Amino acid sequence: MYNIYWWFFFLIFERMPDKGCKCVVKNIVQEKWEEILEFIKTEYGISKVSFITWISKLYVKRVEDNIVYITSDDSNITSNFTHIRTKYGMFIQTAIQEITDTEYEIKFETDNEPAVPFHHEVSSKAPQNQGLPLNPDYTFDNFVVSKNNQLAHATALKAAEAPGDIYNPLYIYGDSGLGKTHLMQSIGHFILENDPDKKVMYVTSDTFTNELIDSIRTGNMSPAAFREKYRNIDVLLIDDIQFIIGKDRTQEEFFYTFNALYEAKKQIVITSDKPPKDFTTLDERWKSRFGWGIIVDLTSPDYETKVAILQKKIDLKQNEGANITIDDEVISYMAENINSNIRTLEGALTKVIALAKIQRMPATKELAEYALRDVVTPNQKKSITPGFIIDVVAEHYHITSSDILSLKKDKAIALPRQIAMYLTSEFTGYNISRIGEAFNKDHSTVIYNVKKIKDLRKTDHELDETIKVLINKINPDMR
Ligand code: ADP
Ligand code: MG
Repeated sequence: MYNIYWWFFFLIFERMPDKGCKCVVKNIVQEKWEEILEFIKTEYGISKVSFITWISKLYVKRVEDNIVYITSDDSNITSNFTHIRTKYGMFIQTAIQEITDTEYEIKFETDNEPAVPFHHEVSSKAPQNQGLPLNPDYTFDNFVVSKNNQLAHATALKAAEAPGDIYNPLYIYGDSGLGKTHLMQSIGHFILENDPDKKVMYVTSDTFTNELIDSIRTGNMSPAAFREKYRNIDVLLIDDIQFIIGKDRTQEEFFYTFNALYEAKKQIVITSDKPPKDFTTLDERWKSRFGWGIIVDLTSPDYETKVAILQKKIDLKQNEGANITIDDEVISYMAENINSNIRTLEGALTKVIALAKIQRMPATKELAEYALRDVVTPNQKKSITPGFIIDVVAEHYHITSSDILSLKKDKAIALPRQIAMYLTSEFTGYNISRIGEAFNKDHSTVIYNVKKIKDLRKTDHELDETIKVLINKINPDMR
């Protein structure tokens, strides 16, 4: 009992602002934090909404050994630290350096002090929407439609217009950075704009997993309350489902939620890095269940699409008040040289804008070449080796590269192995005996396997689709 009182006082003192406390010596970063935030806001062309959503609520918890530990009291922010770190980490670090004249490393830290559970208890009584916040920029209006995403876009729009109707579930798959999260959240925005009372829950599969573990381990939320929370919604947007598949307990809980929502005709949107049939450990029943609505994919954008996306992102920043002018030549340079994905493309644009601002120079091609020297390697074709192909195929099928190189004969390994051989013969320019060496197989086995996959592609539509996904992962330009 006394313990509880003790905690109570501890929490109150912990949460008291330390401004008036003479015993706390503030580090210069803490002292100048307001100035640093102001610098980030004005110097890096970050939109007002993004700044308010992601940055304004950050503060410095402590500074030790030239490491600035950043945190926030807002759990929506702390649960998005990965996003904040990737998108704004460089800006925060640079701003600290600019203002304090000292180089610091930054780390994002979730507040593990007892204050957090205290906080949670209060907020768990709040009524609904306990999912993650939607990124205000991820709307249909800001999504550039082109060949590589036409079908996915059309079905997403349809699902947003008639939630729970024909495209339920909507399953969107594709490589990282191609717009899955953007499209999925556009559905959420659209539905909420038409009916703000709708309960739209956006979660990553990580959040889902962590909440489930939390509900079981700490008793913060009973398993029944956990189920209730996920049943009591109109739209479930679950991002990157691949991280749930294969985790028995979480998967089971997700299926439970899926069934409950589906039966109640609530819209379910799933994103993943691969189509359901490629999850080798997933039950056939579930592979077909995920396909009850529609399965669509996103692929790499072509040159024109990349130009249009860059233009859109620049317009967005300008509309939000940023003063940016970028030569068309720079846009073409980026669209031509950045092939990997749209996230990298957008990161490149942000880098060029940041450098132009810091150097107070126009964003010319020379400046872009300098800013992107680590991202762009002109005229240098990525060399595709059998090892790389084996890694990509193994990762895709959730097996190991040594499985592919082993003598194991079960289908879950034999098929990926044959596919890897086929792709090696297509992409490396190796002759049959070199492929044989790379896979530890004799000449005739290689010929047989390569031909088998080549023929199968003509008759087996699903396999052909999988191979296109793999080709896209190996070399997006060759699809
Ligand atoms: P994924 O979830 O597939 O990894 P994201 O949805 O996070 O990819 O997209 C990465 C970035 O690329 C986001 O900033 C997103 O706005 C942008 N993006 C992707 N596709 C498009 C598009 N068609 N039009 C405009 N922006 C796009
Ligand atoms: Mg995503």
